[in-house]
Amino acid sequence: MNARTPAPSVATTCAYCGVGCGIVATPDGQGGAAIAGDRDHPANAGRLCVKGAALGETLGTEARLLHPTIHGVRTTWPRALDAVAAGFATARDAHGPQSIAMYLSGQLLTEDYYVANKLMKGFLGSANVDTNSRLCMASSVAGHRRAFGADVVPGCYDDFDEADVVVFVGSNAAWCHPVLFQRAEQAKARRGARIVVIDPRRTATAELSDLHLPIAPGADAILFSRLLVEIADSDAFDRSYAAAHTSGLEQALEQARAVAPNRAATAARCGLAERDLVAFLEMWIGAPRVVTAFSQGVNQSARGTDKVNAILNVHLATGRIGKPGCGPFSLTGQPNAMGGREVGGLANQVAAHMDFHPADVDRVRRFWNAPAMATAPGLKAVELFEAIERGAIKALWIMSTNPAVSLPRADAMRAALGKLDFLVVSEVSAHVDGLLDAATVVLPAAAWGEKDGTVTNSERVISRQRPFREPPGEAWPDWRQVCEVAGRLGHGSAFAYRGPAEIFREHAALSGLENGGARAFDIGALATLADAEYDALAPTQWPRPREGAGRKRFFADGAFFHSDGRARFVSVADPPPPPLTEAFSLVLNTGRVRDHWHTMTRTGLSPRLARHREAPFIEVHPDDAARVGLSDGGFARVATEHGAAELRVVTTANQRRGSLFAPIHWTDATAGRARVGALTHGLVDPVSGQPDSKATAASISPSPIAAEGFVVARGRVALPDWLAHARIAVAGGEAITFASAGSPAALQALLSNWLGRTASPSRRVDEGAQRFQSATFADGRLETLLHVAPKLDRAALDAAIALLARPVVGRQERRFALVGRTLEERASASPLVCACFAVRRDAIETAIAAGAESVDAVGQATRAGTNCGSCRAEIRQIVNSRDAVAAIVAAQGD
Ligand code: SF4
Repeated sequence: MNARTPAPSVATTCAYCGVGCGIVATPDGQGGAAIAGDRDHPANAGRLCVKGAALGETLGTEARLLHPTIHGVRTTWPRALDAVAAGFATARDAHGPQSIAMYLSGQLLTEDYYVANKLMKGFLGSANVDTNSRLCMASSVAGHRRAFGADVVPGCYDDFDEADVVVFVGSNAAWCHPVLFQRAEQAKARRGARIVVIDPRRTATAELSDLHLPIAPGADAILFSRLLVEIADSDAFDRSYAAAHTSGLEQALEQARAVAPNRAATAARCGLAERDLVAFLEMWIGAPRVVTAFSQGVNQSARGTDKVNAILNVHLATGRIGKPGCGPFSLTGQPNAMGGREVGGLANQVAAHMDFHPADVDRVRRFWNAPAMATAPGLKAVELFEAIERGAIKALWIMSTNPAVSLPRADAMRAALGKLDFLVVSEVSAHVDGLLDAATVVLPAAAWGEKDGTVTNSERVISRQRPFREPPGEAWPDWRQVCEVAGRLGHGSAFAYRGPAEIFREHAALSGLENGGARAFDIGALATLADAEYDALAPTQWPRPREGAGRKRFFADGAFFHSDGRARFVSVADPPPPPLTEAFSLVLNTGRVRDHWHTMTRTGLSPRLARHREAPFIEVHPDDAARVGLSDGGFARVATEHGAAELRVVTTANQRRGSLFAPIHWTDATAGRARVGALTHGLVDPVSGQPDSKATAASISPSPIAAEGFVVARGRVALPDWLAHARIAVAGGEAITFASAGSPAALQALLSNWLGRTASPSRRVDEGAQRFQSATFADGRLETLLHVAPKLDRAALDAAIALLARPVVGRQERRFALVGRTLEERASASPLVCACFAVRRDAIETAIAAGAESVDAVGQATRAGTNCGSCRAEIRQIVNSRDAVAAIVAAQGD
């Protein structure tokens, strides 16, 4: 194809969350692509949130790994693969199969996962195959297995359209699963469905709810225990369903009564007003169709599995499961967390939803013709890295994730990597913090848009991820890397796949092997797909057995997967309070922001996504802030037993007193002194092994800051490690904001020197105000602009960013560059709200003042919120805010 001839559009799947939206990518013939929602995909029917819509801005290859390396030196693929095979063989031969491990990722495609799992568990004799999905989903998996006998999400997305009440527990779905959340919002607008949010924080999701329960951290199981007690005493109790299809109700109920004996005690333990508790109980019990959706606030807990089972118990007690508009619903975080679970990419499963029961192990051994089948579970993620710390693991292969940032006690985990004899990293990005330097071998991997395979979303729909461009440099798909290493280890015939279609067929065949309905995960009907049929595969929901029909929902018929066919009510323990101490008396909660994903290796490349939350921050209740002397917009040192970070303070009454919230996204590659993973404790749920990322004991104190500023630069600029800073992707380069305790004059001198700009024109814009700005130009364009002042001048930052985007900067504009304003002086210091149409808060407030009193009216006036809808909750917040009301009143007064 001619480089100028655009390739045809390709239907694929979004790279981010577990909603699994379909995307149509239209390549531009230059490596980029126009991105649109796929109207034919059942998950989104054409809608995309801002992250999905901005995928086209993340396709640049400047930050990509392009060649294999050994000890940081470029090498060839054959040499790199030889080294990987030799490293693993050496460790296994010297120390046994338990000394080797793989750490995988929910970003991998099912086919990548399948071959990695097969190699380790079937051919190298180690079940030490775990995944970063352990950090987001393991408690849901364990809860499903305890209750249902299988890891099954019983419902589907249509239930969000049909429910009378949708409860979001520990889920900021308006930001983290936006397209699915919008279905609940539409049900509310269309036919009066109600939305309840149970979350310690008043999130964007809570903002759009009918009832928000700002529950005390970790108390969800108490609340749902009370709900179970009240269900048992109400007409909602489905005695016949419970009697015919479940066991364990009496014990679970007795325990629930002990945990939540009455409403007053429950409200007190949960930190709720009793009237809110009663409103929730009555709403849940009184609505025949209820979906209880849950996510990381439930899963990432020291008692996460119990929280899940407390939710499943109330649906079992009412028979509200597997029926239209009814059911518990686990929202998966990652694009293919479900696919990883399906292939067995967790250390406590073998493959295809089979366990380490002897019959399952034997079945998989026969199917794979495996010479060295693992027969016992391996180490779960945190256990695995603790074993690395002890020196018990000698060789590790990490694919598509960065445990040096995302695991709890991340500093310790980073140090532990140094204990390995041999570390392989398969990775897309060259800007991976703390991992590449530790690796013996680095393998460049194909990325979204280049990879070919399947993913499974939260409603069990398998979708194709299709390539629409060639991988840059020498990047390879992960499955091919694994198969080549398998061949070098003497297992070539078992890994001689011609492509992902062949791997998928084998995976599908294993799922159907000797199944006969005994195992929920069965896609045996897809085992005979021809290559062309696989290529054209439409989104397909499992199960799809070879014989019999698939089904949209599970369990309305009462057929469960425990050996007696019954579901289990699980007795849920009384959860302990967060482990606070005198020195660390606050609860640190961690999570996501709207426009970033994980460690920002992809979203950090998009100028559109960069501006919503530009820098790492810590949210603090105003009373806590006042108590320790913090001011809004200032900086704070947040410390735990495990580490410290320096973060900008956001005071907000949306935060509970005694609690802090910090986003997880920033790393040393995108910020300075802001890695939140380094703060979180290593406590894990005893059943699932999932870390508790929501309740680390922490302290906070003011961080004196005397100077703030920014650098805007065409190329990547390094700043001193000790300087608190954050990188922002902008058109034409990047901006870095920073803050320091030193004076503006001292910082300006230091940074000018650091940046090598001592000879550049420098101008003290306002001596009394200690404002400094200097700039360099090359080829008629802005090259670097440094600005230092006592406070961050957002208007000057916006002006500089606008200047960087200009293809030519004239003399007059250069003059304006040095006073920190664009020629047109159009820069706004107001925060960005709508990333799709670049609408800032001040424009929205102006619209409100002019009479726009609803989110839709603001949309009509400004276009904000009318595309992906991700910002609708924030618009609602502004509409509801005192400032806006005052503005409207003032306008009316006029
Ligand atoms: Fe992607 Fe957004 Fe859809 Fe999630 S909701 S799959 S991030 S477009």
